[in-house]
Amino acid sequence: MELINPRTFLVIANLLGLLCALVLWVQARSFPADIEGLRDWAKAVVLMGCASGLASLRGVAPDALAVLLASAMLLLGELFLVFGLMRYTGRTPKWRPALDAILGLLLLLAWLTWGSHSYPGRIFIMSLAHIAFFTFCAWLSWQARPAGFGSRFLTAGFVFGALVAAVRIVTLSMADAQAEDIFDRSLIQQVFLGAFSLGILALSIGFILLANERLRDELEYLATRDPMTGALNRRAFFARAEVEWARATRSQRALSVIVSDIDFFKKVNDTFGHHVGDLVIKDFARRAGHMLRIPDILARFGGEEFVILLPDTGLKEARQVAERIRKEIEKQRDRTLPAYTVSIGIALVGDATTGIETLIADADAALYKAKQGGRNRVEG
Ligand code: GH3
Ligand code: MG
Ligand code: MG
Repeated sequence: MELINPRTFLVIANLLGLLCALVLWVQARSFPADIEGLRDWAKAVVLMGCASGLASLRGVAPDALAVLLASAMLLLGELFLVFGLMRYTGRTPKWRPALDAILGLLLLLAWLTWGSHSYPGRIFIMSLAHIAFFTFCAWLSWQARPAGFGSRFLTAGFVFGALVAAVRIVTLSMADAQAEDIFDRSLIQQVFLGAFSLGILALSIGFILLANERLRDELEYLATRDPMTGALNRRAFFARAEVEWARATRSQRALSVIVSDIDFFKKVNDTFGHHVGDLVIKDFARRAGHMLRIPDILARFGGEEFVILLPDTGLKEARQVAERIRKEIEKQRDRTLPAYTVSIGIALVGDATTGIETLIADADAALYKAKQGGRNRVEG
């Protein structure tokens, strides 16, 4: 049964590959450089598209081109898929062993083409290589973060690709075992070629989704964080604090806030320079952050002033948290930084609290008392 001329499939795959590569390339150029992998994926689909273009010349062009070069481009394309995913997931690809393995495969293919004239042997070897590549790719895309739809879509696509290749091996021992070449008209061969051309398109869509998810994550991070310390910025703090405020007032749960300010910080700047001042601010954010639980919200309100919202926390507990932070900061953990201390004011949502702003104002008043009382202390 002939669904569509296999040569047509390959030409379609070729054109789809080139088009998808163009889209990926444009994406790579307009995305920030730290979203790695896009350029590798563009190269991968160009190579895979060209491989199918070459394969469609089977019988017209010499086997050296239509078989060996096509296979080399396909394998190299798959290698770029892997490398792109490795870079995207923070790994460093190694060229040498990968190229050695591909060279070995090509030598084997050359022997199967001109030595033993075994078409099923070639399909077997290439299908094994596809299974290996696609399984590794499925595993890598499963690890991609954020684990959104793009990552799952790609994982499913690679698992499907590996399954198709496995089915291809199984069917080798069946009806088309005597098949002569890539253009045999068996149903499985047509399904295989169809899956391949659609696969190039599906992969490209998956990569674009993946990169978009990373971009959205990074933009959200940039929009909500203080770049120096990674703590939330004021705007993001209020957005999340309003949610906590609504929750606390609705369900009568405790809600506390801590306002902290480093003591005599101008002196740190004046004595050691602004750069050391910055390092001290970062040091504070990191160490104070370690003292907190997951639902606590740490934000930098400016300079060396930080605000921490503590959901489900009463005054006694908030005082303990504040004391823990104060005591920790008092210790000079990093000898390359000057010793410093912090003053802290705390406040609890009470009957007179009308919102997050008044809660923070109360804590600010307590902080003022702590400064007046000699600094390096907790009030409120
Ligand atoms: P106090 O104990 O009363 O808090 O005294 P202080 O010297 O710490 O006074 P204050 O809190 O008002 O000092 C804030 C200083 O922080 C003033 C400003 O020059 C400095 N500052 C603000 N933002 C930054 C920053 O991003 N990096 C550095 N290095 N310094 C900053
Ligand atoms: Mg200060
Ligand atoms: Mg200050």
